[in-house]
Amino acid sequence: DDHAAAVARLILDIPDFPEPGVLFRDLTPVFADPLALRAATLGITEPFAGRFDHIGGIEARGFFLSGAGSALTGAGILAIRKAGKLPRTTIREEYALEYGTAAIEVHEGELEPGAKVLIVDDVLATGGTVAAAARLVERAGWEVAGISVVAELEDLGGRALLEDRYEVFSLLKF
Ligand code: IMP
Repeated sequence: DDHAAAVARLILDIPDFPEPGVLFRDLTPVFADPLALRAATLGITEPFAGRFDHIGGIEARGFFLSGAGSALTGAGILAIRKAGKLPRTTIREEYALEYGTAAIEVHEGELEPGAKVLIVDDVLATGGTVAAAARLVERAGWEVAGISVVAELEDLGGRALLEDRYEVFSLLKF
């Protein structure tokens, strides 16, 4: 559709980043272009319209989308941060990366019980990152309204990890 087309033409394919053999999808030109940023943000939030009250953006590129999304939809932002950044009591989830592990956190009690959180990120790859974010939201006592990303890398199978528990939307599939 229109949103998807406006975004797709600005995504750059970068071979061998961050290491040989990986084709990296670079969305920074989408964030830099006002109309494309608006299209990406509307494109990932409209399918869930009326069903979320907060947008959970995953640090760091997810923050661009949660920020723009809050401005366009009136939702609040849930900060889902890399471990060690939040000053109050947190809930933490670890997840596997290709090499080693990473951890993300939210503040305990940041939202009202039952708050409906739309989880957003730029790219869905293996799904480990958004799956950890969804577990965090549930452990904190909130609801996952859905998982929505700009670009899904279908070969990496992230959707299969998520789909039986969550509604998953991607604006573009590669
Ligand atoms: P995961 O494998 O789905 O957990 O992805 C890990 C993190 O790396 C997510 O935050 C993705 O946004 C990011 N990521 C993975 N592949 C790409 C890419 O090709 N371009 C941009 N970000 C990526």
